[in-house]
Amino acid sequence: MATLIAIFDFLFGCHHTHLSRVFTLQGETYRVCCDCAAKYGYSLETMTIERRLPATPIHTRFRIA
Ligand SMILES: [Zn+2]
Repeated sequence: MATLIAIFDFLFGCHHTHLSRVFTLQGETYRVCCDCAAKYGYSLETMTIERRLPATPIHTRFRIA
């Protein structure tokens, strides 16, 4: 089933062509897809995307100070 989902995601899902600038927040450096909010870890040493990061739970994305 996971293979079928991966095929449909490749065909009809986001291809992450609109990435944000590089952010470094809370010791983590990453870029975000502006279309689907996928996070990608970014290496400042090699200046390249390293890996997709797990999605942040919704309750930790926004904080009210
Ligand atoms: Zn995307």
